[in-house]
Amino acid sequence: MKYISKSYLMAYDPETRYGCPFKWYLIYVKGYSFKPTKAMQLGLDFHKCANALYDKLDVGILEGKSRREACQIIQKFLPKNDVYLNFAKLESDRYSVLGRRFVPFRREFTINNGAKKGIIDRVFKVDDGLMVEELKRATRKSYPIEDVKFEVGFYAKLMIEKGMKVTLGSCFFAQDGRFEIFNITEDLLRKVDERERRILKGIEDKNFEQCWDERCNYCPKEIRDRCLEGRFNGET
Ligand code: SF4
Repeated sequence: MKYISKSYLMAYDPETRYGCPFKWYLIYVKGYSFKPTKAMQLGLDFHKCANALYDKLDVGILEGKSRREACQIIQKFLPKNDVYLNFAKLESDRYSVLGRRFVPFRREFTINNGAKKGIIDRVFKVDDGLMVEELKRATRKSYPIEDVKFEVGFYAKLMIEKGMKVTLGSCFFAQDGRFEIFNITEDLLRKVDERERRILKGIEDKNFEQCWDERCNYCPKEIRDRCLEGRFNGET
């Protein structure tokens, strides 16, 4: 393992809807690589697309445009489907209401602190502090806000440790066009710390249990079959 990232922790965390300690073991100890599922691939495309928008869009062309016009212009930079339409609506709302933070201060912002590393979707300047944002393309189930807070809090902690002032966290759920903003409080940072310690303790104790529930659907069939048939027995 080169560093501890959000994905590293979430892949193990039995409290999340994707985490499975045994899957974590296969990836990080045995070196298996898992192809992204269709839903995950859509999520990756969504990120790519959101970034391409800011690479290509000259925000100046939105000057004086109504929300509807701004939305139409933004859509020209995006593939045509409901998810991206929601994204365009959100960004045009932001531009109309909060033009000063329409363009993120940082995108795909990489931050390192010792053994930890984060790649943060977007960072905005809000008043005299920073807001950390995650983009989620939630699929069948809505993404638990506690997991989002853990992910955003993990990044906020890294930034705070580097001397930055992080006051807000946010998440945009592309599937339903939902946007949540929350405060980065001492209590949130403490909970992140506790959850992180719990996960790392499980790894240290070599607790690599198979989760055996609907999360198995996110594993490739051959892995699922081997798991079900007990063909991994004795590996951990
Ligand atoms: S098939 Fe299920 S138990 Fe096996 S690694 Fe995947 S999620 Fe874990």
